[in-house]
Formats: sequence, structure tokens, C-alpha cells
Amino acid sequence: MPLNVALPGLHFSCGVAGLKSWIEISGARLAENFRAVRSVAGVGVEVLAVIKADAYGHGAAVCAPVLVEAGAKWLGVSDLEEGVTQRELMPHSGVRVLVMCGMEAGDAVGMVAHGLTPVVWTAEHVMAMERAARAGGHRVPVHVEVETGMARQGAAVGEELAKVLERLANSRWVSCEGVMTHLCCSEVAGAGTTKVALERFAAALEQVTAAGVKPEFVHLANTSAVDEGGTMRWIRAKAKAMGARAMVRPGVGLYGHCLPIEGAGAGSLGSKLAPVMEWKTRVIGLREIEVGMTVGYGATFVAAKTMRLALLPVGYADGFRRAASSGVGDGWVIVKGQKASVVGRVSMNLVVVDVTEIAGVVEGDEVLLLGNGVSAEDHARWSGTIAYDVLCGVRGRMVRV
Ligand SMILES: *Cc1c(COP(=O)(O)O)cnc(C)c1O
Repeated sequence: MPLNVALPGLHFSCGVAGLKSWIEISGARLAENFRAVRSVAGVGVEVLAVIKADAYGHGAAVCAPVLVEAGAKWLGVSDLEEGVTQRELMPHSGVRVLVMCGMEAGDAVGMVAHGLTPVVWTAEHVMAMERAARAGGHRVPVHVEVETGMARQGAAVGEELAKVLERLANSRWVSCEGVMTHLCCSEVAGAGTTKVALERFAAALEQVTAAGVKPEFVHLANTSAVDEGGTMRWIRAKAKAMGARAMVRPGVGLYGHCLPIEGAGAGSLGSKLAPVMEWKTRVIGLREIEVGMTVGYGATFVAAKTMRLALLPVGYADGFRRAASSGVGDGWVIVKGQKASVVGRVSMNLVVVDVTEIAGVVEGDEVLLLGNGVSAEDHARWSGTIAYDVLCGVRGRMVRV
């Protein structure tokens, strides 16, 4: 992927040949969102910026330098491969990189070689890291994940966690720098599941202390947990009591989105965030159709009046979901500041929109596919999903603005 720095400071682009749409990323907004999350998380709380899944579709190559510049000392990636890519992108940044989603024993050598810090949850993970660290000749840190209700990664409190801690407590080569968990219902204020999760995490931290392990960081908060507040107060107090620091792991919030907090005490973060991504394309064709003419596969749309249609060179292969088709999600785009509804079915690489009521549309006009007036939340509603899913699925040339 060619990366060319076009303008100093805030502009650069990654070209992907053949894509007819482009994604504008606002570096300024990304930095502002990072600062907003940091201020809501609280003084002294370390903010790990999650850039997994190519920065939620925003381009890790575009976003990571902005976040580091804004003050991020930690980045969160999904796997070894993303971690290595990050190291290659910013080899001298000194930024810490936490590999959060799925450690395999075979990854240990790569983790050590690239200075990446894995989330581990079995004694086998620790042993693999020990072997790699010994071969590398230096001690390495890991973060231990505790299972608190997600049933994905994590050692359960009690015997499972004891095995990991035993291995760590006696290790010459691996140190436990962090203890963490991931909440399943952080966007629900006062959730019973969160209460149970916090009880389990508290028990885990007691077990950690009893094993003689002293982590520098304890962490559990994603964007919604930072927003919700109660969980943040809990983890800040917990960290202080055990002489550790609280860390938070915001992802979607950095990109300007957060789920509504359900229940009492609605969050304060949402109003401080602004979306970072604008997805754009151009009109590549225009046509008039008469009453009775059909549009798109399956002829699902039949014109009831004379219409003017604009053709756009994006479709579901680019992440413009088929569920946005008329009669399904009834999606729209923005042309000249006005809504232009999707007409007929979204095709793989094309979509037709209604510009009958929008004066003066010509070929080459810019079209907003996602941005002001057509949000990721709108796209998510059309396809019965969440903004996370929409953002990760968008494909286009990446341009930093
Ligand atoms: C993705 C992820 C996050 C970030 O979650 P958001 O809801 O996007 O803020 C935090 N922690 C872990 C372990 C994750 O996998």
C-alpha cells in the first residue's frame, strides 16, 4: 500500500488501486477525541488507544501517528500481525503495543522480537513467552486477562488463574505488568452482569496480590465503560488501593462514536466526540426514467413518476451494505447537502440514488456516503447492526485531512 505524505502536518493518503470511493480521516478530530476520552477517564489514568481491525476501518497507518502525537503511550492491536505492522510503521516511536485478541504459543517469538506485549491467560502462554524471552536474552512484560463473563479469553478466578500466577510469580523471564478483563455489558448503567464482573475482577486482584504478583496497571474499560462512569470510579479506587495505575482501552470513542448508555446516569462522553471519518464518492452517470420503468436487480423498484437518477460507483463490495436497498433499509446518501434515497437494490459495485428533487446535479459531483447527515449509526440501522460493524466494513482510498 503506497503511503505518500502529501501535505505537512495533517494530510496524507494511502492509495488502493481500483477503489472508486475515498475515506477522509480528520486527524484533528481524532486527536480531539483522544483528549476528550483522556479527560473523562480522569487524571493519572493511562489511555491505551485501540487501533485493532485497521483502526476500525479508519486506517491504522493514518491513525496511529496522530494518536501517538496526541499523547498515546500505548496502542492496542488485535494480533501479532497487526502489532508487527505497527512496529514497521513507527519503528522509533517507543510506543507500547498491547496485543489483545488471541495469543497462540507460536506467536511468542514474534512478540519478543518486535517488542509487543501480549494479553495472556494460560500458563502455556507464559511458558511460551518465557522460552522466547530467554532466547532473546531479556525479561518481557505480559498482561493477564481474567474471565468475568465474556467466556472468550481470560483465566477464571480460582484454579485457572492460580496456574497462571504461579508460573508468573516464579518467572525470571516474564513479568506481570498488567491485570485486565473485558466487560460484556459496559454500556448498561447498573447492569447486574457488570456488578458480577467487578466482583470477579476484585477477587482476581486479591488472588494476584496474594500470589505476590504486583502489576503496574489494572484495566477493564472500553469506550462505554469510560462513558458510563461508575465502572471508572471503581477501577480508579481499586488501582489506588493496590498501588497500581488504572488504564482504559477506548476504541470506537476515538473514532467519534459511542453506544448510548442504557439506564440511569447517561454518559457524558458522547457529546464531546465527533466522527473522524467521511466516506465519499462521485456521480458517474445520470439518467431520467419514466413511469413504469424498473431499477436494479430483481426489478424491486418501479417508478411511479418521472425520476432523475444518479449512478454511484460503490456497492456492497465496498461496504455500502445491500441492506440499504430501497424497500429494505431505505438508505440514503447526501448530494449537494440533501438526502438522495437509494433506489432499487444495492449492487456489488454500483448503487443508484434519486436526485429528482436536487437541482443541478452533474457527473463528477461529490457524494457523501457516510458523514454529516448520513452517520455510521444510520448505516447500522439500515442493516440491523452497530456502528462498529459499519466502520470496519468501509473500503476506499484513505486520505487524511
Ligand atoms: C476492542 C476492544 C476494546 C475497545 O472497545 P470499544 O468499545 O471500541 O471502546 C477494548 N478492550 C478490548 C480487549 C478490546 O478487544
